[in-house]
Amino acid sequence: MPLEIIRIPVLSDNYVWLVHEPDSGETMVVDPAVAPPVLAEADLRGWEITQIWNTHWHPDHTGGNAEIKAATGCTITGPQAEAARIPTLDVQVSGGDVVRLGAVEARVIDVPAHTAGHIAYHFAAEHAAFVGDTLFAMGCGRLFEGTAEQMYGNMRKLEALGEDTAIYCAHEYTLSNGRFALMVEPDNLALIKRVNEVTAMRERGEATVPTTIALERATNPFMRASSVEELAARRAAKDAA
Ligand code: ZN
Ligand code: FE
Repeated sequence: MPLEIIRIPVLSDNYVWLVHEPDSGETMVVDPAVAPPVLAEADLRGWEITQIWNTHWHPDHTGGNAEIKAATGCTITGPQAEAARIPTLDVQVSGGDVVRLGAVEARVIDVPAHTAGHIAYHFAAEHAAFVGDTLFAMGCGRLFEGTAEQMYGNMRKLEALGEDTAIYCAHEYTLSNGRFALMVEPDNLALIKRVNEVTAMRERGEATVPTTIALERATNPFMRASSVEELAARRAAKDAA
């Protein structure tokens, strides 16, 4: 049976992902910014949280770790390179490692740049990737601890997962990203269409993620940057916008 993936909106614009593997009954949380709404959602569904997977150390991705672990006894997996900054970690992983949710496997991908040890989790058979703050709908994460060259490399790694891969990112930044993308590529018809669509979705109060690699290849100015220098210039312009 496929994974069941539930989006939990928390704080001002974060998405926490609750992932249930029905064959084993295991339930995992990606990047719990906070605990109470995550525990409530799992309770509502009769799911018992057995694992947390963190993509990077930022508090809006790990802030609920301790409380969820205290409530459930779950195991917390996260980036080896950031273990010192995530004191609640039980299992340290890095690129190429395989992590399991019941019968289902995910591969860890190193995607440094937003933070120095940022990782993503790719469920190949499920065509799904949890990318934290690396790739957003029409955007990418800020370069807090890494370089444009690393982010350019991350775009290539994520693109290589295949067009039909669903991308579960950790924030609803889509409208602001879309406005910037239109300044970069005002004549991109796929982008114009998408910004119209997501504007209507937000007006209806709907979430615009997950996205897909196909959509990002068509509309994301950072994935579409043709060189490190172009990505760097776009990132700098977006930071200043
Ligand atoms: Zn972050
Ligand atoms: Fe974040």
